[in-house]
Amino acid sequence: MPQELQGFVPPTTPATSAHAPGTLVDKYGRHITYIRLSITDRCDFRCFYCMAEEMEFLSREQVLSLEECLRIARTFTGMGVTKVRITGGEPLVRRNAMWLLRQIGRLEGLKELVVTTNGSQLDRYAAEMRDAGVKRVNISLDTLNAERFKAITRVGDISKVLRGIDAARAAGFSGIKLNTVMMRGENDDEFCDLVQFAVDKGIDISFIEEMPLGTVDHPRADTYFSSDDAMALLRSHFELVSSAESTGGPARYWRIPGTETKVGFISPHSHNFCDSCNRVRITCKGELYPCLGQNDALALMPVLRGNPGDDAPLRQAIVDSMGIKPKGHDFNEQMQNPKVVRFMSMTGG
Ligand code: SAM
Ligand code: SF4
Repeated sequence: MPQELQGFVPPTTPATSAHAPGTLVDKYGRHITYIRLSITDRCDFRCFYCMAEEMEFLSREQVLSLEECLRIARTFTGMGVTKVRITGGEPLVRRNAMWLLRQIGRLEGLKELVVTTNGSQLDRYAAEMRDAGVKRVNISLDTLNAERFKAITRVGDISKVLRGIDAARAAGFSGIKLNTVMMRGENDDEFCDLVQFAVDKGIDISFIEEMPLGTVDHPRADTYFSSDDAMALLRSHFELVSSAESTGGPARYWRIPGTETKVGFISPHSHNFCDSCNRVRITCKGELYPCLGQNDALALMPVLRGNPGDDAPLRQAIVDSMGIKPKGHDFNEQMQNPKVVRFMSMTGG
């Protein structure tokens, strides 16, 4: 363990009844049991649907320290959150990310620690992540073609990701899922191959409708590919049997009989899932976004840094954030008139 992090114990003050588990309920009655915590805005890829080619990244002081990330996770789990997803940017490029995973993995009340990654560092970290208590891992993969992979990610090397997928399998994760963003004219000719790849590896795959987050070089309305169209396409090659299984996220799942593979669809445009939203997102700047698709946020950094020995103000701020959780996003409207300027890499997908 790095010396600077040795023996770190974040402050804990007893929860009052106003902050006890079960108090995270928004004004529409939705219980918040899941946080997505982005631990960096940096990434070793530049996927063209996620980031601009030239990105300005935050300075070290603007970003939550790992101790602050842990304090946030601990405070939420003390208030009834049972699932934490670590994301980014690319979470595995953050220095000492394994220390954080290990600490979060031990939190009382936590049922599931999961990670979303581009897979580029998994070859190195998969075994350590599993040992740290990570239950499942989502790995982004939009194509199987090396040249296309380089074009989509602008810089990425697919062979590292493929090695990372195998390292995750070898590490024995029970839930490995590929995430594929669907883009008309970019990768829609590969959906069947990607599913076959998942079948061959004995893992799951989810197809995601592209969301209008941040200004990118292409008109998103042109590349939009709906889950229903993808389903029709896949059905010409695979038998898909509807499944009631859920991983506590927005995906709807289908099984391919005779295989280990579940195929999921995350359809923010065509099958809005806001009514059952159970999560909030925290950026690496410590902003709490109650909705991925809106601009309302609450800054936790001043609360954290202003009250180093007392978690009560942090708990109160989190309870207050329930009041600004909107009913839902309006991505369909935003496809034509984008209003969320921050990139997905900033909010944390
Ligand atoms: N770097 C990691 C990765 O790529 O998995 C974690 C962060 S990334 C922002 C999380 C997920 O968001 C990835 O699966 C990525 O494909 C997806 N994503 C990024 N921009 C998106 C967009 N505009 N619409 C839909 N999904 C997007
Ligand atoms: Fe990086 Fe993930 Fe965004 Fe690609 S999708 S640029 S890998 S954060």
